[in-house]
Amino acid sequence: MAQVRYFLRAPKDVAERLFAVIEPALEEEAWPLSLSEVDEAAQIFELSAYVDENEGDAQARLEALIPVDLPVTGFEAEPVPDIDWVTKSLEGLKPVRAGRFLVHGSHDRDKRRIGDLAIEIEAGLAFGTGHHGTTAACLEMLWEVARRERPRNALDLGTGSAVLAIALAKLARIPVLATDIDPVATKVAMANVRLNGVASLVACVTAPGFHHPSFALAGPFDLIVANILARPLIRLAPQMARHLVPGGSLVLSGILDSQRDAVVAAYAGQRFRHVRTIHREGWVAIHLKR
Ligand code: SAH
Repeated sequence: MAQVRYFLRAPKDVAERLFAVIEPALEEEAWPLSLSEVDEAAQIFELSAYVDENEGDAQARLEALIPVDLPVTGFEAEPVPDIDWVTKSLEGLKPVRAGRFLVHGSHDRDKRRIGDLAIEIEAGLAFGTGHHGTTAACLEMLWEVARRERPRNALDLGTGSAVLAIALAKLARIPVLATDIDPVATKVAMANVRLNGVASLVACVTAPGFHHPSFALAGPFDLIVANILARPLIRLAPQMARHLVPGGSLVLSGILDSQRDAVVAAYAGQRFRHVRTIHREGWVAIHLKR
């Protein structure tokens, strides 16, 4: 739905006071409000409220909230251009290199070099453009582990955009089960899998943790990668052990530096030994073997 921006400009103290009055009064409406500096030298601020266009009386309601002693008259209105912000924000993203992988959007196809394993990720509502430290660290780790160990099948748990599943399919040419708890992510994942020409290798399934018949059919796995978060990873340790073949490899990420030891300890309890940790921007990816 299209939106209207109602805005007014005022000196800093006036704008801030108005914001402090309006914000709690509009809590129920959940209209996004913003306060931004438009003239640094003169200390002029702009207060904006973003409202769906069918809320007809929004302007009157906003103006009724202006305290009588404030030297402002009313709000101006302008339509908000209908922009697909996910696409827009992806356009600004540069391609990411990790190992020999290059993760890029469609606008950067010309950045591919000979020898690159290119992964094209379409803008979507799923995590995994390669820009997050955890994704990049996983790609780097997978690059090494898959080349050294030559796995025959793999699982990408919490696949998001499917970036890691596509990376594994392209690198190792093996079947990959890609799962996510979020059906929107699974849909995006499927589209990206097709876009990258690996639909015959990657199967996308919506499942929380290991709760789906596909795991029994496709597993046990030689290689599991899971870029989720420390706490669910710790909880999933016994099931990871069950779905990995003896001697198989596990690559975990979504873990902060400070959480690394707790995750390694939880997996040691399932007879996993730590092989290597990669650090990136405060996050780690760890390689474990059983
Ligand atoms: N693998 C991608 C995305 C990581 S984001 C990458 O490395 O960039 C983590 C993803 O895990 C999200 O899409 C989230 O929906 C999913 N997720 C979180 N908890 C999960 C669980 N218990 N089971 C399956 N997927 C889960």
